Amino acid sequence: MSWNLKKKARELLSKESGTVYKEHGGRLRVCLVYPNRYGLGMANLGFQAVYGLLNNIDNCVCERAFLPEKEDLPEYERTGSQLFSFETQTPLREFDLIAFSAPFEDDYFNIPVILKLAGVQVRSLDRSGPLVAAGGVAVGLNPEPLALFMDFFLVGDAEGAAQPVIDRLMDCRAKGLGKHETLKTLDSIDWVFVPSFYEFEYDGIHIKSVKALDGAKKTVKASKARDLDQFPVPQSFVYTPCTELPDTYCVEAERGCPRGCRFCAAGFLYLPPRMREEKKVAEAVNAGLKRAGKVGLVGTAVSEYPAIKEILKRGIDEGGTITLSSLRLDELDNEFLALLKEAGYRTITLAPEAGTDRMRDIVNKGITEDEIMESVRLIAEAGFTRLKLYFLVGLPEETDEDALGIAVLTKKIREAFRKGGEIILSVNPFVPKPFTPFQWHRFEDAGVVDRRLKMIKRELAKTGVKVTDMSAKEAFMQAFLARADRRAAEIIEKASESGWKRAMKGMESFIEESVYSVRGRDEILPWDIIDHGVKKGYFWKEFQKGLEGKQTPPCDVGNCVRCGVC
Ligand code: SF4
Repeated sequence: MSWNLKKKARELLSKESGTVYKEHGGRLRVCLVYPNRYGLGMANLGFQAVYGLLNNIDNCVCERAFLPEKEDLPEYERTGSQLFSFETQTPLREFDLIAFSAPFEDDYFNIPVILKLAGVQVRSLDRSGPLVAAGGVAVGLNPEPLALFMDFFLVGDAEGAAQPVIDRLMDCRAKGLGKHETLKTLDSIDWVFVPSFYEFEYDGIHIKSVKALDGAKKTVKASKARDLDQFPVPQSFVYTPCTELPDTYCVEAERGCPRGCRFCAAGFLYLPPRMREEKKVAEAVNAGLKRAGKVGLVGTAVSEYPAIKEILKRGIDEGGTITLSSLRLDELDNEFLALLKEAGYRTITLAPEAGTDRMRDIVNKGITEDEIMESVRLIAEAGFTRLKLYFLVGLPEETDEDALGIAVLTKKIREAFRKGGEIILSVNPFVPKPFTPFQWHRFEDAGVVDRRLKMIKRELAKTGVKVTDMSAKEAFMQAFLARADRRAAEIIEKASESGWKRAMKGMESFIEESVYSVRGRDEILPWDIIDHGVKKGYFWKEFQKGLEGKQTPPCDVGNCVRCGVC
């Protein structure tokens, strides 16, 4: 193993605090892998939370590994080194379980690279040695694109779900069970999905039938930690300044958004909205302020956390900085804005999502242009000088006029915001995601998306507004992977070797049809085997309401059973 690579890992370790070192003996050895670079992985709260959870389990030891930096790859090749864990520099193939935490589809291409570097076979059927599994938001939405690489998936919240998996694996190891028997044992856990136990029959891009083999369960019930307060607050357990969010200690305040925006996967995946006890969040915030001086409060709808103002006040009293992962603009009032300012907030980020009220009704944003303008007025009045706005193009039913509405609205905001103040516009193509009402909808033609993006940029050219965007080409790949089935494995594997463009060769019409087709109401979707609690019929109703521009009120937890989660 390369001494240089080990040295580099140790240097990064020396800058961390909170790293867990546990004896391997008598424990299940798990290497938790983030399928991207160290700096991105360490900034990801989901990855950090699972690391903390697994190491809290007495009979488990969890270490970490990442996609190596590009400049380190020649050193791996030159020395024939295999990928190793950070904590003890143990080769990945010596662990019992290699567990990927996969929050984004774009990282799928890195998974075959990592497995090859680890010296293990990429495909589950060819592999002996450690089991390979995955969890995280992207695979919770649709595990199928990775089905041929993974031995099993853990679907849903990790809290409460990991311990039974570790216990069963320990038991199987003690009994000396082989891979198939071990996977059979895991299949008895509701939230474990063993993809090799299912056989799919296809008809073009569509699924004709799915068969559960060998007595495997028909539905995988995602785990749901109903009472988050039973578990530790996810936070930057391992703190390091060497991340994409330097000097920020992240803390999760709540999970689940009550608003029901029809394009938002996280919004539906994490239902019902669950708020953590204020005392616990405050403790985590205090710990973060002591360690880093700056806390990033994270949540699906964190500005709706009931004790948000109290938490900000505490941060201010401690002399620290607190930022929020998102702000709902109709939550803003003078007091909230003053607190944000005092807590060190410099840029206010808002997500109107669409340029016209018509489009915002279609996506169920529940915010009018008047409300947007009122919040901009308040933000300017509070003395903020930087405003970031998020929009989507290519939403269902969008016309050129609606897209142009983004520029028209931005110009109005420009007028109403401070003179000399900075406005940054982030415009991204809409990607239909599983477990949302728009899961049946198609991705808008790449040509149309790019034309609309150009229109917006042209219209704002001389306004001083900075426009950043993701091209339709980049989003196209995400759109394919988000709704793909297990036949995507070949493309992912090829793309990991020679890039997406070459991987598409010969598959263009299949990929384009997958991306551009509207799915039928009764069609079997690749992720239908997963049950997150929201009924498929509810999504369909919401889809139809969206097309008619009808709105749905937010969650009313305790008084509502409409979607099936509560
Ligand atoms: S049942 Fe009602 S309150 Fe519960 S998650 Fe669904 S919409 Fe929200």
